[in-house]
Amino acid sequence: MELLTNSARRKFGTCPRAFYFAYKLKRRPKKDQEALYFGTVVHKVLEAWWISRLDGMQTVLDTILDNSEKPYFLPTVRALMYAYNNLYANENLYETIAVEKYFECPLINPETGSPSKTWVLAGKIDAIAREKELSKIVIIEHKTTSEDIAPDSSYWMRLKIDGQISGYYLGARSLGFDAQDCLYDVIKKPTIKPFKETAEKKYKADGTLYANMHAADEEPSAWEKRLSEDILNRPEFYFQRKRIARTESDMEEYLYDAWACGREIADADRMNRWPRRPNACIGFGECEYFNVCSGCASIEDDNLYVTLETPNPELEIIK
Ligand code: SF4
Repeated sequence: MELLTNSARRKFGTCPRAFYFAYKLKRRPKKDQEALYFGTVVHKVLEAWWISRLDGMQTVLDTILDNSEKPYFLPTVRALMYAYNNLYANENLYETIAVEKYFECPLINPETGSPSKTWVLAGKIDAIAREKELSKIVIIEHKTTSEDIAPDSSYWMRLKIDGQISGYYLGARSLGFDAQDCLYDVIKKPTIKPFKETAEKKYKADGTLYANMHAADEEPSAWEKRLSEDILNRPEFYFQRKRIARTESDMEEYLYDAWACGREIADADRMNRWPRRPNACIGFGECEYFNVCSGCASIEDDNLYVTLETPNPELEIIK
């Protein structure tokens, strides 16, 4: 049986050729691996926070080494996570039941009710909690993003049909948790940046630099303080939470979507034909395989791509 994850479905839906590179050849762009690191570290800290709040969070933060090549990385994570703790630690709404729960469950044909012979749905639920007031089981999903997370932004509209959340409801049920709600817990990456030394400095008559010019790179500790103050002044810019419910008809729609996707991947695999989707090449930023499809690079180029051991590394970490 093959694992059908939400990431795989999303990749195939965007472009079958990109799916082929990423999931069949397991070739992933090198630079993506670095960008993913921020989200992975924040996830790790959040996992500890949901187990034992501030104590757990501090323990994990203490294990992250200061990296001289990325001096602002740890200060950035620290500023965000302490602000997260200050915002949510006292609300006392949830009791954590489990964290990082891996699931596999049958992909059911919504027409016949029979399980797929090719695919199982797989994923990892960040946390499962009990809402204390109503004693309701809630799926907790953490996200870090660069997108606008304002309550009326399209970020939240999209989640109404997001397959990942629907899959988590099925996954939670397969683990014995009758989840009745999903708390989507989002952290926005900072848009302000550490100050860099100004290359061409201009001085006023009193010998001081003009505004927006800097004599030297900002100290990491000064950056952490400035970022913490910015978060304190506008927490809603950095942190948002919303409940994402699913009705039975949402779940039925999801099953049709997932089943159709599984069939399409199986057909492409059988014929070994992976159609390109030129409209997706530069839609939301340039596709990571654009160099290859446009003939400027090879998928074999180890300077650009690495071969992963598994097509689903996000699952392997916790298995
Ligand atoms: S560059 Fe375009 S055709 Fe090629 S994998 Fe990416 S989206 Fe598909």
